[in-house]
Amino acid sequence: MRIAKIETAEVNIPLVTPFKTALRTVDHVNDIVVRVTTDDGEVGYGEAPPTAVITGDTKGSIRCAIEEFIAPSLAGMEIENLDGVMRKLHGCILKNTSAKAAVDMAVYDLFAKSCGKPLYRVLGGNRTEIETDLTISVNEIGEMVSDSLKAVEQGFDILKIKVGKESLKDIERIRAIRDAVGPDVKLRIDANQGWTAKDAVRIIRTLEDMGVEMDLVEQPVSAHDFEGMKYVTSRVNTKILADESVFSPEDAIRLIQERAADLINIKLMKTGGIYEALKVCAIAESYGVECMIGCMLESKIAVSAAAHLAAGKGVISRADLDGPSLCRIDPYAGGPVYEGRRILMNETPGLGITGVPGFDA
Ligand code: MG
Repeated sequence: MRIAKIETAEVNIPLVTPFKTALRTVDHVNDIVVRVTTDDGEVGYGEAPPTAVITGDTKGSIRCAIEEFIAPSLAGMEIENLDGVMRKLHGCILKNTSAKAAVDMAVYDLFAKSCGKPLYRVLGGNRTEIETDLTISVNEIGEMVSDSLKAVEQGFDILKIKVGKESLKDIERIRAIRDAVGPDVKLRIDANQGWTAKDAVRIIRTLEDMGVEMDLVEQPVSAHDFEGMKYVTSRVNTKILADESVFSPEDAIRLIQERAADLINIKLMKTGGIYEALKVCAIAESYGVECMIGCMLESKIAVSAAAHLAAGKGVISRADLDGPSLCRIDPYAGGPVYEGRRILMNETPGLGITGVPGFDA
């Protein structure tokens, strides 16, 4: 099975409500999709979102990286030589992790199909169900409370609360949501780099003193501020999760060795796909650090690749894979089933996606 063709197209899917974080506001998933075709006619699919404020990748840069660098480098390579393909993929161009992730997952899709198994089983796992949280965008307090209550009504019992815009108000936001949803709903707080280290400690300690329990606080300070991450991690009881601070396996080693966080958020768009994400999993596991699997604003192809990784690796103990739940429509055929908080894996070989607009009528 040799790589014969790598093509790109664009999908545009409206969101149920605008997605707002400390970094941006978005109302559509507008992603690049990839189809890798082999010489015997088998296809694998991938997807990359242009999350310029986090990865630096744009639609134009993703397409250019794939069409002008990655596709010519991988042409003619055997899918069964997975390690060789991945080394070539990561060696042919620096950075461009979203473009690499899209092609990586399409190649893993094909590799698992060549094994006749769903990808999560090829990765060594057997979890057939994953529980995801749901993101609550940062807004005025009343709106966040009503969005949280709506999510709980829909069956979500873990909420990811976006904050980080105004530090004092963030305490009120989190407290109000906790009061509204009661003690049984888990709250994950994501500041998206919006606080200073001192603010973060003050906010988290205040909430701890109020008895507001939080499953974790994600990326309280700037991505590059490992000292700040460490400052916060060592001064609060609540677990601190590194997101924007950890892209690569090298980042994971440094962060863990410096004790700059308690948990690591793996996203395929940061690592450049499954191949490098597996290295982060192995590093975290070696140090006894648990991981969360997250996604950018992605639709079902990329989120399904992340779901397969989560179902395949025990070190991934938490999932933040709500991309498909935020989309107004599902334009794809096949793949895991997204039923509210439950992601149900199935036995279709590969990622399981069988139809993608832009490629398949
Ligand atoms: Mg985050």
